[in-house]
Amino acid sequence: MSTEAVAVSAVSEPQQHTPSAPAQAKTVEKVNLLGMSRPQMEKFFEDMGEKKFRAGQVMKWIHQFFVTDFAEMTNISGKLREKLEKICEIKAPEVVHKNYSKDGTRKWVFRVGDGEGSLVETVLIPAEHRSGLRRTLCISSQVGCALDCSFCSTGKQGFQRDLSQAEIIGQLWMANYSYMEEVPVLERERSVTNVVMMGMGEPLLNYDAVLNSMRTMLDDFAYGMSKRRVTLSTSGVVPKIDQMVKDIDVALAISLHAPNDELRNELVPINKKYPLEQLIAACQRYIAKDGNESSRKHVTIEYVMLDGVNDQPEHAQQMIKLLKNLPSKINLIPFNPFPHAPYGRSSRNRIISFQKTLSDAGFVCTIRQTRGDDIDAACGQLVGQVADRTRRAEQWKKKVAAQNEILRSQG
Ligand code: SAH
Ligand code: SF4
Repeated sequence: MSTEAVAVSAVSEPQQHTPSAPAQAKTVEKVNLLGMSRPQMEKFFEDMGEKKFRAGQVMKWIHQFFVTDFAEMTNISGKLREKLEKICEIKAPEVVHKNYSKDGTRKWVFRVGDGEGSLVETVLIPAEHRSGLRRTLCISSQVGCALDCSFCSTGKQGFQRDLSQAEIIGQLWMANYSYMEEVPVLERERSVTNVVMMGMGEPLLNYDAVLNSMRTMLDDFAYGMSKRRVTLSTSGVVPKIDQMVKDIDVALAISLHAPNDELRNELVPINKKYPLEQLIAACQRYIAKDGNESSRKHVTIEYVMLDGVNDQPEHAQQMIKLLKNLPSKINLIPFNPFPHAPYGRSSRNRIISFQKTLSDAGFVCTIRQTRGDDIDAACGQLVGQVADRTRRAEQWKKKVAAQNEILRSQG
């Protein structure tokens, strides 16, 4: 249950008034309905002594008509609306910055938490597809990330906190709303067609909030998205992959980035805990469950191309061996540099020849187009100007300089 839902009992108690004492405006935290999944909201209404079908009605107003004012919920009795207004709110995270690129990419920076709070980012990327226009939203799940992958700017921030359900689903709500602001309520439609949990943070380490948010994405009373169009990306938290397979059916992407343990330990440190053999086995269990379901026919393998580090012909050969028993589609991601990054982007030719080796071996292998470069929204640049709170970038710079010095002195 999200933290927003915890305040119910506190707000439903009658306020005490002591005439002799100076009037103190006690601010009572309202329950934010935005983040609740349907089972959670049904329970909330039942606990209030209301019928649970009210949850479905309210969810439709919130997630399909983008209404935040209870007064506009015309199929709900005036009495209940009044009650809801007193104790609840529908509140998306505050947008502190938005930027819409010429190529259609949109980016929002949200402030989450109290006071100055922390900043998280969400990016929407449009693309023409056989089935029509796709609008894919890249959603963040945490502020920062504890897993410290060496090529990732989010990792450089360190972990700050998990996002709540309202903060996660609020990103999807806001992206849809951005197309609907001027549209009359009853004519509003959802515009985001796909979601990837590929923003800041490791979604499987904020498991409950991410799971409930994905349930809301799939729910016909909310966003009604197809399970093939919601993708969770993980750097490989193996036990949580198994848990997710039990709990929900969505598409899975693995941030592989290296085809052997030695290199992966360096690039994706969680590999030391869950090495490749365990990770590939978990992916196979994901496929094996309901193997005929379309969302589980393959795993997407993400592979960021780092110049001279993981982009050599022998790495492509190792990939072919590693993935030979795993139905997978490989997505090569040109590295997006950020200040003090210790890597460079592989050349176009190298990426293409890496792709050819994999395609010749029978894999579907695509190269991710970098989009939204003009608004600093490309993958891995999500934190942009956000401060490096752990000074890891400084440490990296020193380490790289020291290594260069050693190499120079060795001639
Ligand atoms: N923590 C999850 C999801 C967020 S990262 C995960 O690691 O999968 C989303 C994707 O962006 C991952 O594949 C990640 O490896 C990639 N990425 C991170 N930094 C990048 C960079 N600088 N350039 C390109 N891709 C990057
Ligand atoms: Fe965290 Fe993913 Fe970045 Fe690794 S790549 S540090 S898991 S956000």
